[in-house]
Amino acid sequence: MNERVAMQAANPRIDGRSIYLDHHATTPVDPRVLEVAIRMMVEEYGNANGVENIHGEHAARAVAEAKEQIARSVSAEPDDVHFTSGSTEAIQLAISHAIATHRSPLRVAMTRVEHKAVIDTVVKAERMGLVEKSWIAVDDKARLDWQSLERVLDEGVDLVCVMAANNEVGTIYPVQKIAHAAREQGAGVLVDATQAIGRMALDLDEGILDYVVLSAHKIYGPKGVGALISPGFDRSSIYGLQGAHHPTPNVAGIAAMGRACELMELEGAKESGRLAMLRDRLQERLIALVPDLTVNGDKASRLPHNLHFSAAGAPNEVVLSRLRGKLSISSGSACNAGAQEPSHVLRAMGLPDALLESCLRIGLGRSTTLGDVESAAILIGDAIHDVRMNFSGASHV
Ligand code: PLP
Repeated sequence: MNERVAMQAANPRIDGRSIYLDHHATTPVDPRVLEVAIRMMVEEYGNANGVENIHGEHAARAVAEAKEQIARSVSAEPDDVHFTSGSTEAIQLAISHAIATHRSPLRVAMTRVEHKAVIDTVVKAERMGLVEKSWIAVDDKARLDWQSLERVLDEGVDLVCVMAANNEVGTIYPVQKIAHAAREQGAGVLVDATQAIGRMALDLDEGILDYVVLSAHKIYGPKGVGALISPGFDRSSIYGLQGAHHPTPNVAGIAAMGRACELMELEGAKESGRLAMLRDRLQERLIALVPDLTVNGDKASRLPHNLHFSAAGAPNEVVLSRLRGKLSISSGSACNAGAQEPSHVLRAMGLPDALLESCLRIGLGRSTTLGDVESAAILIGDAIHDVRMNFSGASHV
């Protein structure tokens, strides 16, 4: 591997100064994952569909190995792994498949805090007359409201969509328990495990989920590759024509995703322990430095690398502009056609407007150090102080 590329991968800072704490948005590629991708592109570059020669055979073997590595992380069978360009495409395929293979319109229930990739797909399908949707409520910590789930299940549902962990506030959902409740009522289950995979124990009974979606770029793999894991999935049932010919697989991306999952399986628990300690340290420092800081989400059960908070009186876009080039964090709400809207997650949690517009999301990652966390606390504390001073001053002018 080129020395500069390897150094950059091992120390993923864009300009050597800016600290990256936005690992919920995406993660840098781990050098060990990159090595696999490069090997598959430069040395073992055969066509996995062309197994008549040794090059194709090696590529096909790499794809099969990746399926095993990915399946293991969600207690599934390798044959049930279908590669996609990421979680968004996996979600769209899963919902399209459920529509094509069930009654019409498909009755879909989803939590109010699902990622926009789920919500927008279901809403669009409803507009097309293909889906009838219902919502499952959450509480002020974004935890699932069981009564709401039971009510929706009693009314009749074909597919329940629930995330394993929330991408904004990090709240973790008991997917196994939800899946059993859904199954008892004859409903299928789609779990969006994009943020959760490798970061927490999923403890899934084999075959309990109908659809699981994953994305490589959230676990130190490349962007543009993901997977739909589903026992009954068949592309041809969606449009009829898909599946007539097998496209050439993205072997480098697929093998890299397999390696990324394998590393998560080997190191995820240890990494999560370390990141939870750093996150707790950062939270402690911020609470000490920033008066009236509110931590959002379920502190008792959230992703170990997540910290989401609000600092009333300090609009987040102004704070982010103060931090630009020094520290990369985000407001955390999904972008809609480039326009930043108030987060639907925070709205569903019932956050007051003053806290909605001052929320910030931090995502720690594999390369995050104690020094990063200490520096981030000071940078954020100073930026919020500065913005609060200027904004309260401006209102008196
Ligand atoms: N689901 C969740 C929970 C996410 O966090 C994301 C990405 O942020 C997605 C789905 C979409 O993933 P992708 O970028 O792979 O399309």
